[in-house]
Amino acid sequence: MPELPEVQTIVSDLEILIGQQFVDFFSGAPKALKNISLASFAKEITGQKIKSVSRLGKIILIRLVNNKTIAIHLKMTGKLILTDHKTWNIEHKAWNVEHEIWNMEHGARNMEREIWNIEHGTQNINHKKNTINNPGIVDREPRTIPKHLHHIFFLKNKVLKFYDVRKFATISLLDDTDLATIKNNYGIDPITDTFSLKQFFALIMRGKARKIKEILMHNALILGIGNIYASEILFDARILPARKADSLSEKELKLLHKSITKILRKAIKMRGTSISDYRDANDKSGSFQNQLFVYRRGGQACKKCGTIILRSVIAQRSTFFCAKCQH
Ligand SMILES: [Zn+2]
Repeated sequence: MPELPEVQTIVSDLEILIGQQFVDFFSGAPKALKNISLASFAKEITGQKIKSVSRLGKIILIRLVNNKTIAIHLKMTGKLILTDHKTWNIEHKAWNVEHEIWNMEHGARNMEREIWNIEHGTQNINHKKNTINNPGIVDREPRTIPKHLHHIFFLKNKVLKFYDVRKFATISLLDDTDLATIKNNYGIDPITDTFSLKQFFALIMRGKARKIKEILMHNALILGIGNIYASEILFDARILPARKADSLSEKELKLLHKSITKILRKAIKMRGTSISDYRDANDKSGSFQNQLFVYRRGGQACKKCGTIILRSVIAQRSTFFCAKCQH
């Protein structure tokens, strides 16, 4: 699951789209649209230019000039991959036969696709004619629409492909009131908000009877930290994940506060952690996975002291720690 550093990396990559205009939107899995129908969403964003791209916790916010905001939550396996028109056309051409099936199955708007084809080169139409007239010459084997490509944002000079293996990712269209409501229910963002030591102490006090790892991962208190970074932050601060928050000394809390921003900033700099399928918007891996001290290293030697890293479960999540380095 992408955490704050991965989402921040994607947001930075998507900033290239500022000023660009949406020309169309397709979805083969419209259930991902949470507060709006597919037809209304496509209509609302088409013709709109992008004013800014930002992040609210793990939600990607694409703000339009009409002051509506497209909010994308990648959840477990969502991936946004940017491509240029030339590449898209090559891929699109290869996928044409399957697109016919896609169109039939998903009731996609063929008329718009024709206009798209006319606007973006006649190659596709010719190819389409060929495939219709001579279906035998097309090798269908490798030419399937990627199975997990569910939504496609067409922009004037780019195509933004939205893949999602598990199909938990969501898309919403929000106004400023919706955004304010979400922000009110969220905690402090350790990267974009002021995150003073005083504020951090107050947060800890709110969750004091809980285990410190649970607090770090609780979005209503602190935003954007998931299992990977909670484990790494606690290792960096030399604190055992199962410690109750109110058992931490002031010195330990200061160390923890420092480790939160230190680890997150370092992970952003290294463009995130690619352990399972995380990719940035250019389809490239991050490199923070090479810096992990404990996460998913159960049974291996601690890189600092050689002790075997242990695994336990806190709030149903695997938790990794070094019993010697962490207290
Ligand atoms: Zn150790």
